[in-house]
Amino acid sequence: MGFKRPECLTKESMHYCPGCGHGIIHRLIAEVIDEDYKENKIIGVAPVGCAVFIYDYFNFDFVAAAHGRATAAATGVKRSIPDALVFSYQGDGDIAAIGTSEVIHAATRGENFTAIFVNNGVYAMTGGQMAPTTIPGQVTVSSPYGRDPKVQGYHIKLCEMLVPLDGVAFVARTSIHNLKNIEFTKKAIKRAFELQMNNEGFSIIEVLSNCPTNWGLSPCESMKRIENEVLKYYSLGIFKDKGRGI
Ligand code: SF4
Repeated sequence: MGFKRPECLTKESMHYCPGCGHGIIHRLIAEVIDEDYKENKIIGVAPVGCAVFIYDYFNFDFVAAAHGRATAAATGVKRSIPDALVFSYQGDGDIAAIGTSEVIHAATRGENFTAIFVNNGVYAMTGGQMAPTTIPGQVTVSSPYGRDPKVQGYHIKLCEMLVPLDGVAFVARTSIHNLKNIEFTKKAIKRAFELQMNNEGFSIIEVLSNCPTNWGLSPCESMKRIENEVLKYYSLGIFKDKGRGI
């Protein structure tokens, strides 16, 4: 695709902090849509969190959901317009905390849409508090001595929780900390959208991303932190692909 701006991205400047991974993930979604779904109706569901303004950055329709309810909203949208490509875009505070119930039930029912789950390990928009995804030892503003599993419990592994559910067609965890993994993320988005358009059921891609602002690191250091620290707790891969018998 090169450096040309994908056609389905607007010319709006993104509000994200410098070096934030959201811009990379938006671009990957846009590239997949430009390549494969230009003629399709596309509807996104926006979260509450740093990506709340995602609807400003794409040239197609979005629904803004209440906090954590994006998978419930996406269920309604997809059932109303089954031919549309529908995806929710949610951070870890949204999908893996307040929205845990919604995602588990949408996945269990086999709702035929794709959830794109951006995991940066903190509640980023509200100032970097500990999230369910915060890894052991990680210092946040609400776990100043580092997350201690004996006190604050372990980090949640949403992908691993969803794999056994019959309604789930595709589960992958990817990352954007280097070019190889950015490419892998794009392939996973492509495959999830493909399975959705084949009516295979629920699909989810968890993308390990960075939050240089709340991690107190430079953009480059934050990418290295994913590689050196976050990957010890969150393994990457395609955990389920119904179409390929995985
Ligand atoms: S606070 Fe973190 S996740 Fe939010 S826009 Fe800034 S860098 Fe990105």
